[in-house]
Amino acid sequence: MIELKNISRIFRKEGGIEVKGLDNVSLSIKRGEFIAITGPSGSGKSTLLNMLGFLDQPTSGEYHFEGKAFGGQHSSALARVRNKEIGFVFQSFHLLKNVTALENVELPLIYSDKKHIRKLAEAALMSVGLGDRMSHKPNELSGGQQQRVAIARALVNEPALILADEPTGNLDSQSSAEILEIFNNLNEQGKTIIMITHEADIAQRANRIIRISDGQIVSDQPS
Ligand code: ADP
Ligand code: MG
Repeated sequence: MIELKNISRIFRKEGGIEVKGLDNVSLSIKRGEFIAITGPSGSGKSTLLNMLGFLDQPTSGEYHFEGKAFGGQHSSALARVRNKEIGFVFQSFHLLKNVTALENVELPLIYSDKKHIRKLAEAALMSVGLGDRMSHKPNELSGGQQQRVAIARALVNEPALILADEPTGNLDSQSSAEILEIFNNLNEQGKTIIMITHEADIAQRANRIIRISDGQIVSDQPS
Protein backbone atom coordinates (compact mmCIF):
# COMPACT_ATOMS: atom_id res chain seq x y z
CA MET A 1 0.00 0.00 0.00
CA ILE A 2 2.85 2.39 0.89
CA GLU A 3 6.53 2.26 0.00
CA LEU A 4 9.02 4.77 1.34
CA LYS A 5 12.51 4.65 -0.16
CA ASN A 6 15.36 6.59 1.41
CA ILE A 7 13.11 9.32 2.71
CA SER A 8 14.76 12.24 4.50
CA ARG A 9 13.11 15.34 5.89
CA ILE A 10 15.45 18.15 6.83
CA PHE A 11 14.11 21.10 8.79
CA ARG A 12 16.00 24.38 8.61
CA LYS A 13 15.88 26.29 11.86
CA GLU A 14 16.82 29.88 12.55
CA GLY A 15 20.52 30.59 12.10
CA GLY A 16 20.70 28.01 9.30
CA ILE A 17 20.87 25.03 11.65
CA GLU A 18 19.59 21.84 10.04
CA VAL A 19 17.62 19.20 11.91
CA LYS A 20 17.04 15.78 10.38
CA GLY A 21 13.42 14.98 11.22
CA LEU A 22 13.79 11.80 9.15
CA ASP A 23 17.12 10.38 8.08
CA ASN A 24 17.07 7.97 5.13
CA VAL A 25 13.99 5.97 6.11
CA SER A 26 12.82 3.04 3.97
CA LEU A 27 9.60 1.29 4.87
CA SER A 28 7.00 -0.93 3.28
CA ILE A 29 3.42 -1.07 4.56
CA LYS A 30 0.83 -3.57 3.36
CA ARG A 31 -2.91 -3.17 3.34
CA GLY A 32 -4.50 -4.54 6.53
CA GLU A 33 -1.51 -4.04 8.82
CA PHE A 34 -1.85 -2.60 12.34
CA ILE A 35 1.44 -0.84 13.09
CA ALA A 36 2.64 0.99 16.18
CA ILE A 37 5.38 3.61 15.78
CA THR A 38 7.26 4.23 18.98
CA GLY A 39 10.39 6.05 20.14
CA PRO A 40 11.52 8.93 22.34
CA SER A 41 10.16 12.45 22.13
CA GLY A 42 11.69 14.32 19.19
CA SER A 43 12.76 11.13 17.40
CA GLY A 44 10.71 11.83 14.26
CA LYS A 45 7.49 9.88 14.86
CA SER A 46 5.13 12.72 13.94
CA THR A 47 7.32 13.72 11.00
CA LEU A 48 7.01 10.16 9.67
CA LEU A 49 3.25 10.03 10.19
CA ASN A 50 2.79 13.43 8.52
CA MET A 51 4.83 12.16 5.58
CA LEU A 52 2.72 8.99 5.32
CA GLY A 53 -0.42 11.13 5.29
CA PHE A 54 0.72 13.76 2.77
CA LEU A 55 0.69 16.46 5.43
CA ASP A 56 4.38 17.07 4.77
CA GLN A 57 6.72 16.31 1.89
CA PRO A 58 10.18 14.77 1.98
CA THR A 59 13.37 16.71 1.31
CA SER A 60 14.58 13.66 -0.62
CA GLY A 61 13.53 10.09 -1.32
CA GLU A 62 10.64 8.30 -2.97
CA TYR A 63 7.06 7.82 -1.84
CA HIS A 64 4.64 5.38 -3.46
CA PHE A 65 1.01 5.14 -2.41
CA GLU A 66 -1.01 2.29 -3.96
CA GLY A 67 1.70 1.87 -6.57
CA LYS A 68 1.69 5.51 -7.63
CA ALA A 69 4.74 7.73 -7.12
CA PHE A 70 4.17 10.94 -5.21
CA GLY A 71 6.54 13.86 -5.06
CA GLY A 72 6.31 17.41 -6.27
CA GLN A 73 2.55 17.12 -6.85
CA HIS A 74 0.39 20.15 -6.55
CA SER A 75 -0.96 20.41 -3.01
CA SER A 76 -4.55 20.09 -4.24
CA ALA A 77 -3.74 16.67 -5.74
CA LEU A 78 -2.26 15.58 -2.42
CA ALA A 79 -5.25 16.93 -0.54
CA ARG A 80 -7.57 14.90 -2.76
CA VAL A 81 -5.75 11.64 -2.01
CA ARG A 82 -5.62 12.56 1.67
CA ASN A 83 -9.32 13.29 1.91
CA LYS A 84 -10.32 10.13 0.09
CA GLU A 85 -7.85 7.55 1.33
CA ILE A 86 -6.72 8.61 4.80
CA GLY A 87 -8.37 9.33 8.15
CA PHE A 88 -6.40 11.20 10.83
CA VAL A 89 -6.72 11.01 14.60
CA PHE A 90 -4.70 13.35 16.85
CA GLN A 91 -3.81 13.41 20.54
CA SER A 92 -5.77 16.62 21.14
CA PHE A 93 -8.81 15.49 19.05
CA HIS A 94 -8.88 18.61 16.79
CA LEU A 95 -12.67 18.94 16.91
CA LEU A 96 -14.49 22.17 16.14
CA LYS A 97 -15.69 23.48 19.51
CA ASN A 98 -18.84 25.33 18.52
CA VAL A 99 -20.61 22.64 16.55
CA THR A 100 -22.14 19.30 17.55
CA ALA A 101 -20.52 15.88 17.34
CA LEU A 102 -22.69 15.15 14.30
CA GLU A 103 -21.62 18.34 12.52
CA ASN A 104 -17.96 17.58 13.26
CA VAL A 105 -18.33 14.17 11.65
CA GLU A 106 -20.17 15.62 8.63
CA LEU A 107 -17.31 18.00 7.84
CA PRO A 108 -15.12 15.68 5.71
CA LEU A 109 -18.17 14.83 3.58
CA ILE A 110 -18.73 18.40 2.50
CA TYR A 111 -15.80 18.05 0.10
CA SER A 112 -16.88 14.66 -1.18
CA ASP A 113 -19.51 13.79 -3.74
CA LYS A 114 -21.26 11.44 -1.36
CA LYS A 115 -24.99 11.66 -0.92
CA HIS A 116 -26.82 11.33 2.35
CA ILE A 117 -24.23 13.18 4.40
CA ARG A 118 -26.26 13.17 7.60
CA LYS A 119 -27.01 9.45 7.47
CA LEU A 120 -23.35 8.58 6.90
CA ALA A 121 -22.25 10.77 9.81
CA GLU A 122 -24.89 9.22 12.08
CA ALA A 123 -23.78 5.73 11.09
CA ALA A 124 -20.13 6.59 11.81
CA LEU A 125 -21.02 7.92 15.27
CA MET A 126 -23.12 4.85 16.00
CA SER A 127 -20.21 2.62 14.99
CA VAL A 128 -18.11 4.15 17.78
CA GLY A 129 -20.91 3.85 20.33
CA LEU A 130 -21.99 7.51 20.34
CA GLY A 131 -25.48 7.16 18.91
CA ASP A 132 -26.87 8.91 21.99
CA ARG A 133 -24.40 11.84 21.97
CA MET A 134 -24.71 13.17 18.44
CA SER A 135 -26.16 16.56 19.33
CA HIS A 136 -23.60 17.26 22.07
CA LYS A 137 -20.81 19.76 21.57
CA PRO A 138 -17.23 18.68 22.37
CA ASN A 139 -17.20 20.43 25.79
CA GLU A 140 -20.23 18.35 26.79
CA LEU A 141 -18.30 15.13 26.14
CA SER A 142 -15.53 13.32 28.03
CA GLY A 143 -12.04 13.08 26.51
CA GLY A 144 -12.66 9.49 25.47
CA GLN A 145 -15.97 10.44 23.85
CA GLN A 146 -14.31 13.35 22.02
CA GLN A 147 -11.68 10.99 20.66
CA ARG A 148 -14.43 8.64 19.50
CA VAL A 149 -16.05 11.57 17.65
CA ALA A 150 -12.67 12.24 16.03
CA ILE A 151 -12.43 8.56 15.01
CA ALA A 152 -15.95 8.72 13.54
CA ARG A 153 -14.87 11.80 11.58
CA ALA A 154 -11.77 9.93 10.37
CA LEU A 155 -13.94 6.99 9.25
CA VAL A 156 -16.82 8.75 7.58
CA ASN A 157 -15.18 8.89 4.13
CA GLU A 158 -14.37 5.18 4.44
CA PRO A 159 -10.61 5.57 4.08
CA ALA A 160 -8.44 2.47 3.74
CA LEU A 161 -5.83 3.93 6.08
CA ILE A 162 -6.11 5.44 9.57
CA LEU A 163 -3.16 7.46 10.91
CA ALA A 164 -3.23 8.23 14.63
CA ASP A 165 -0.67 10.43 16.42
CA GLU A 166 -0.66 9.50 20.14
CA PRO A 167 -4.44 8.93 20.10
CA THR A 168 -4.52 7.87 23.75
CA GLY A 169 -1.98 10.43 24.97
CA ASN A 170 -4.60 12.60 26.71
CA LEU A 171 -6.84 9.79 27.94
CA ASP A 172 -7.27 7.77 31.14
CA SER A 173 -6.64 4.02 30.96
CA GLN A 174 -10.33 3.09 30.62
CA SER A 175 -10.85 5.47 27.67
CA SER A 176 -7.55 4.35 26.14
CA ALA A 177 -8.75 0.75 26.27
CA GLU A 178 -11.97 1.75 24.47
CA ILE A 179 -10.04 3.52 21.71
CA LEU A 180 -7.74 0.52 21.24
CA GLU A 181 -10.76 -1.77 21.08
CA ILE A 182 -12.16 0.39 18.26
CA PHE A 183 -8.84 0.29 16.39
CA ASN A 184 -8.65 -3.49 16.80
CA ASN A 185 -12.17 -3.87 15.40
CA LEU A 186 -11.42 -1.56 12.49
CA ASN A 187 -8.28 -3.52 11.72
CA GLU A 188 -10.25 -6.78 11.78
CA GLN A 189 -12.62 -5.19 9.25
CA GLY A 190 -9.60 -4.65 6.98
CA LYS A 191 -8.51 -1.08 7.73
CA THR A 192 -4.80 -0.38 7.79
CA ILE A 193 -3.89 1.38 11.03
CA ILE A 194 -0.69 3.21 11.88
CA MET A 195 -0.58 4.53 15.43
CA ILE A 196 2.11 6.48 17.26
CA THR A 197 2.46 5.76 20.96
CA HIS A 198 5.27 5.94 23.47
CA GLU A 199 3.57 3.48 25.81
CA ALA A 200 4.90 -0.07 25.48
CA ASP A 201 1.65 -1.79 26.49
CA ILE A 202 -0.29 0.15 23.87
CA ALA A 203 2.29 -0.60 21.18
CA GLN A 204 1.87 -4.30 22.00
CA ARG A 205 -1.73 -4.13 20.77
CA ALA A 206 -0.49 -3.62 17.21
CA ASN A 207 0.82 -6.48 15.05
CA ARG A 208 4.05 -4.74 14.13
CA ILE A 209 6.17 -2.30 16.12
CA ILE A 210 8.50 0.17 14.43
CA ARG A 211 10.97 1.93 16.73
CA ILE A 212 12.46 5.27 15.74
CA SER A 213 15.43 7.12 17.15
CA ASP A 214 17.07 10.28 15.76
CA GLY A 215 15.01 10.10 12.59
CA GLN A 216 15.99 6.52 11.79
CA ILE A 217 14.23 3.18 12.10
CA VAL A 218 16.14 1.22 14.73
CA SER A 219 13.87 -1.82 14.84
CA ASP A 220 10.87 -3.16 12.95
CA GLN A 221 9.36 -6.35 14.34
CA PRO A 222 6.14 -8.26 14.89
CA SER A 223 4.75 -7.52 18.36
P1 ADP B 1 8.26 13.12 17.76
O1 ADP B 1 6.90 13.13 17.14
O2 ADP B 1 8.93 11.78 17.74
O3 ADP B 1 8.27 13.70 19.14
P2 ADP B 1 8.89 15.05 15.65
O4 ADP B 1 8.67 14.26 14.42
O5 ADP B 1 7.83 16.00 16.04
O6 ADP B 1 9.22 14.05 16.87
O7 ADP B 1 10.24 15.88 15.51
C1 ADP B 1 11.48 15.29 15.06
C2 ADP B 1 12.54 16.37 15.03
O8 ADP B 1 12.25 17.30 13.99
C3 ADP B 1 12.66 17.17 16.30
O9 ADP B 1 14.02 17.53 16.48
C4 ADP B 1 11.83 18.41 16.00
O10 ADP B 1 12.28 19.52 16.76
C5 ADP B 1 12.08 18.60 14.52
N1 ADP B 1 10.91 19.24 13.86
C6 ADP B 1 9.70 18.68 13.67
N2 ADP B 1 8.88 19.51 12.99
C7 ADP B 1 9.60 20.64 12.76
C8 ADP B 1 9.33 21.87 12.08
N3 ADP B 1 8.15 22.11 11.52
N4 ADP B 1 10.33 22.81 12.04
C9 ADP B 1 11.53 22.56 12.58
N5 ADP B 1 11.85 21.42 13.22
C10 ADP B 1 10.91 20.47 13.30
MG1 MG C 1 5.07 13.74 17.93
